[in-house]
Amino acid sequence: MEFEWSLEDAAFRRQLAAFLDAALPGDWDELAKDGPGSEAQAAFARGFCAQLAERGWLTPHWPAAYGGRDASPWQHAILGEELWGRGEPRGPQYMNVNWIGPAIMKYGSEAQKREHLPRIARGDAFWCQGFSEPDAGSDLVALRTRALRDGAEYVVEGTKLWTSYANHADHCFLLARCDPDSKRHRGLVVLLVPMSLPGIEVREVPSVVGERYFHEVVFRGVRVPEAARLGPEGEGWEVVGYALQYERVGAPRYARAARTLDRLASLLRAAGRLGEPEVQARLGEARALCEAARLLSYRVVDQRAHGEAPSADTNVARVAGTFAEQWVADLALELFGAAGLAAGGFADAQFRMAMTAGVAVGATEVQLNLIASRLLGLPRE
Ligand SMILES: Cc1cc2nc3c(=O)[nH]c(=O)nc-3n(C[C@H](O)[C@H](O)[C@H](O)COP(=O)(O)OP(=O)(O)OC[C@H]3O[C@@H](n4cnc5c(N)ncnc54)[C@H](O)[C@@H]3O)c2cc1C
Repeated sequence: MEFEWSLEDAAFRRQLAAFLDAALPGDWDELAKDGPGSEAQAAFARGFCAQLAERGWLTPHWPAAYGGRDASPWQHAILGEELWGRGEPRGPQYMNVNWIGPAIMKYGSEAQKREHLPRIARGDAFWCQGFSEPDAGSDLVALRTRALRDGAEYVVEGTKLWTSYANHADHCFLLARCDPDSKRHRGLVVLLVPMSLPGIEVREVPSVVGERYFHEVVFRGVRVPEAARLGPEGEGWEVVGYALQYERVGAPRYARAARTLDRLASLLRAAGRLGEPEVQARLGEARALCEAARLLSYRVVDQRAHGEAPSADTNVARVAGTFAEQWVADLALELFGAAGLAAGGFADAQFRMAMTAGVAVGATEVQLNLIASRLLGLPRE
C-alpha cells in the first residue's frame, strides 16, 4: 500500500499553490468578505476562472474530449482543497466543474454536451441550482413547480427558493414535475433552462450568508424547448441523485477549516497563548476533526478513481466536512469573539458560511438519515 502522493500529483499541488499565491490579491479577504454572490467577488471569479482554464486547471479531471486533461480524480481533489483552503475564488463556478458538468456528461445529448461543456471548461458559464421551493427543502420531492409538455416545449410554472447566485446565472439546472398525476420521486424532469427566457423573475432574498447570495426565482409560463431536457422524461430524480453524489465531496470544507485553524494558531502565538495546554488540546481536537473529514473524503475519491459506484460514503464524507467546519468556526468565536476575529483580519463570510453548512445541499439530519438507511440496508423512502 502506497500512501504518498505521486510525484505528478505533488508537483501539481506545488504549481497550483504557487499560482494561487500570485493570482489572489493581497486584499482577497476584504474582497471575499461579502461572499461569492457579491458583485466584487463574482467579477473577480470570472477573470480568475479564465486564468485557471488557460492552464488546464479548471476541469483537469474531465475527459480531453470535453475540455479536460484526463487527470485523475485525485487532481480534482487537490484542486478543491487548495481553492477551498483559500476561500473558493472560483465563486459560483465550483458547481459547474464539480457536478453540473459531470451530470451533463452522463445524461446529456451530444448537442447539450457541445453547447455547455466547452463553456464550462473555459470558465465562461454561470449556473444556478433550482431545486428547493418554499415548501420543499429536506423533503425535496414535495416540490410543486411544474414543467408540462405542450408539443415540443415544456411550460414551466412555479417558484424556486434559496437559489444561490441566480443573479449571475445564465442557466438554471431546474428540477420540476412533468407528470401532474405523479407522486414523490416519480414524474420529475431536469431542464437546463436559459435564464434569459421570457417569464423568469429573479428576486434577491437578503440573508446572513452574504450579499446577493440567495434568490427567489419565479417561473411564469416559461416555454423551454424539449431539447433542453437532461436525461429521460420522468427520471429527473435519478439525474439529481447522480449530480449530488459529486456535489457532496466537491466542496472540501475541511480544507477551509484547516486553513482557519492555521490562522487561529498564528493569532494565538502572537497573543502568547499558544503554550496553554487547554488551547493546545482544543486546537488538536479541531485538527483531528479536519483530518478525519479529509480521509473520509479521500475514501470517496479513491472509490471514484477505481470506477466504483457512489455509495453512502459520500454522505459520510459530507457530514464529517460540515462537522469540522462548524467546530472550527465555533472554536474561533469562543477563543476570540467576533470583534477579535475581525481585528485579526478574518473574513467573517467564512463564519457565516460555516453556520449554514449543516443546511446547504441537504440538512445534516437528512444526511444522517440517508447514512442510517443506506448503511443499514433499509429500503429508500
Ligand atoms: C448556503 C445555502 C445555499 C443554498 N443554495 C441552494 C441552491 O442554490 N439551490 C437550491 O435549490 N437550494 C439551495 N439551498 C437550500 C437548501 O437545499 C435547503 O435549505 C435544505 O435542503 C433544507 O431545506 P429547508 O431550508 O426547506 O429546511 P427544512 O426542510 O424545513 O428543514 C429544517 C430543519 O428541519 C430538520 N429536518 C427536516 N427534515 C428532517 C428529517 N427528515 N429528519 C430529521 N430532521 C429533519 C433539520 O434540522 C433541518 O435543518 C441552500 C441553502 C443554504 C443554507
